[in-house]
Amino acid sequence: MVKKAFITGITGQDGSYLADLLISKGYEVHGLIRKESSLNTSRIEHLLVNPFEPERNFFLYYGDLSDGARLTNLLYDISPDEIYHLGGQTSGKEGFDLPEYTGNINALGTIRLLEALRRSGLKAKFFHASSFEMFGVSPPPYNESTPFRPRSPLGAANAYAYFMTVTYREHYNVFACNSIMFDHESPRRFETIPTRKTTRAIARILAGTQKNLYLGTLDPVRDWGYAPEYVEAMWLMLQHEKPDDYVVGSGAGHSVGEFVKEAFSYVGLDWEQYLKKDPRPHASAGAVYVADASKAKKVLGWQPKVSYKELARIMVDADMETLGLKSPGEGKAILEKYKLNTTDRTSGNSVGGLEEWPGLRKYS
Ligand code: NAP
Repeated sequence: MVKKAFITGITGQDGSYLADLLISKGYEVHGLIRKESSLNTSRIEHLLVNPFEPERNFFLYYGDLSDGARLTNLLYDISPDEIYHLGGQTSGKEGFDLPEYTGNINALGTIRLLEALRRSGLKAKFFHASSFEMFGVSPPPYNESTPFRPRSPLGAANAYAYFMTVTYREHYNVFACNSIMFDHESPRRFETIPTRKTTRAIARILAGTQKNLYLGTLDPVRDWGYAPEYVEAMWLMLQHEKPDDYVVGSGAGHSVGEFVKEAFSYVGLDWEQYLKKDPRPHASAGAVYVADASKAKKVLGWQPKVSYKELARIMVDADMETLGLKSPGEGKAILEKYKLNTTDRTSGNSVGGLEEWPGLRKYS
């Protein structure tokens, strides 16, 4: 029997890589996309198939995490074996501008989906992607026993969703797992995050269409990994015999400044010549977040391979090639070495999908 997966956040970085992974494993993939005035399908364009194709394995549905009735109907209609909940407001900074919205989508949106699952009576396994933002002012190490002391709307909303996922597991016996994800990047990462902002700026500087890169503090230390390896951890959690919660990260910490220098020096540019200070205050200045993912390694056998230096090369190569520039190519060699996806594409502001997938409206 072909397994069916339902993914929220399928148009995002992780959702798109997860869809790639599941399709490569023979799954039928069903994804939720938001009804916006323009479609944001640039990360999944390669998966869109003609809706008149009888053998297709990729389906999209309009819906929103604010709409519980729609989620209930979709689960009832699709009857998935596995649910991967990756959708939501994902920016820590924007959480401060949109605290009510962040709570509604990330916290209550998770409840709507869990309730839809409970009410449907399905036995689907449930995965929720949560984040290190929940640790807030707790000191390291950051493992599954570290208390959550969030100090941001995003961290607080994610903590609520985390504990409700645990509650549905323990109270309703749902096979439900949380991951506490640390930063993971890729050419599909959204463009305002410092890593992607940097690699995209480098490509544009080389193409002569951008002069400077504006960043806030270079001090925050983060644990950066390569996103396609992280979606593998999500899948492994739902294949394990017991549902549980796992920290997912590389265990290595590097500052934003280190990433910036690495990315610029890869293409022979002097970063100091191009970097300008963004003077606006930054909530996470000085914070050091590095994962202790030893449980995921021990129980799931999951351990990422791509280092932050390799990640910078992968991302610079992809951003350069998107602009039609010849990249140094080391990033592609790294992907080949680790047998990872070498045909990646960057995410951009481009909107697409309707022409390639004319039935989107009709079949949603
Ligand atoms: P992303 O690229 O920002 O994608 C977010 C996805 O959520 C998009 O598909 C977005 O749809 C969708 N979404 C937003 N609001 C929605 C709503 N109201 N209803 C339905 N869908 C909605 O994020 P990501 O990097 O893939 O992250 C995936 C998950 O991992 C998130 O839960 C995130 O918090 C967690 N996480 C990620 C990282 C990381 O480093 N990437 C670290 C920690 C935790 P649109 O395309 O329409 O905007």
